[in-house]
Amino acid sequence: MAHDTTADRVRRAMRDEVLGHVRRQGSASRAELEAELGMGRQAIAAVAQELLDSGLLTEQQGVGNGRGRPGRRLLPQYSPGAVVGLDLGHRHLGVAVATFDLTIQAEERCAADVDGDPVAALDTAARLIRQLLDKVQADATAQGAATGPVTTCVAGVPGPLNASRRAMASPTILANWSGLDLAGELSERTGLKVFLDNDANLGALAEHRHGAARNHDNIIYVKASDGVGAGLIINGAPAHGSSGAAGEIGHTQITQDGAWCRCGNRGCLETIVSTQQVLQQLAHLRPGECGPPLRLHEFAGHPVARKIFAESGRTLGRVLANLCALLDPATVVIGGEMSLADPFIDGIRDSIGRLAQPGFDDRVHVLRAALGPRAELMGALTLARDIALQAAPA
Ligand SMILES: [Zn+2]
Repeated sequence: MAHDTTADRVRRAMRDEVLGHVRRQGSASRAELEAELGMGRQAIAAVAQELLDSGLLTEQQGVGNGRGRPGRRLLPQYSPGAVVGLDLGHRHLGVAVATFDLTIQAEERCAADVDGDPVAALDTAARLIRQLLDKVQADATAQGAATGPVTTCVAGVPGPLNASRRAMASPTILANWSGLDLAGELSERTGLKVFLDNDANLGALAEHRHGAARNHDNIIYVKASDGVGAGLIINGAPAHGSSGAAGEIGHTQITQDGAWCRCGNRGCLETIVSTQQVLQQLAHLRPGECGPPLRLHEFAGHPVARKIFAESGRTLGRVLANLCALLDPATVVIGGEMSLADPFIDGIRDSIGRLAQPGFDDRVHVLRAALGPRAELMGALTLARDIALQAAPA
């Protein structure tokens, strides 16, 4: 066996760093790599050549600006293969299969009682995953194309994870999931290696890599849907906290004597701001028991709905104004179903503008998630891709 010298290890670390950076960014010029990674021009040139020779990068002529030679850009080159993303909400689940360049090949979303019946939700998720993988295989066969291996799945869950990151941590939030080896159960049903993360953390990852907060290294991402949770990126890296529960802002107490929350406390943010709360307040606008369940978008333009969305936004904004003082983010990205309502975003901006410390209100950008309600699923696919490529021999 060849002797692994210090120089070899340094060279390999540099290669991994350059490859990782190009994969995260989607493309990069040599000059950008020099600036971003702090490596010298010659070192970058040598590492880039090695990666080009080994087929892990490819090169594309950049677009010129009319002055001088257009720069060449390095792009990641992926082997055939795909990953699976699963987004478990409180009342829905979404599944997607994507190639390593994160092109979605198949996607499905359906309603499911995720909170109440974990076993049925896992069975449904596994069935959908199998259906989508079969469809991708059939499409490829029809086109005479080869499909690569599919080994990795990341599932986003609407609550904090335990230390092993294979099950839910809290005995009160998602109580029916407590003690269930979620990753193991999914793995057994699908034959895939399954990794878990909190859904808001995955939304934050997706918006940081591909969405509204691209190139911002300090962000708060909020998923406002059937529950409210936040994912944090601090100095460019996800912040999970000491036990994985960082960002559980849905259980911040707003009123001491408020409604009882599923977590066992009273007056939590989630008891006031969630799609179910808004729909309950809007139910009188469509009297009668008949018809399909109410959906938020049905009421988008109604003046009563606008007031309710704005007030919900202002309530969430009060919590976020306090978080801004704590974390000093450049960007607050609002995702989840409620983010689709303009008055909700305006309400958040209003509270941050009024309550954040002087100076913060000018510096903090409150943006709607560019990936919309799919941010969590895109985050799951992104993390699954990163894990699969780490495990694959380079
Ligand atoms: Zn609570």
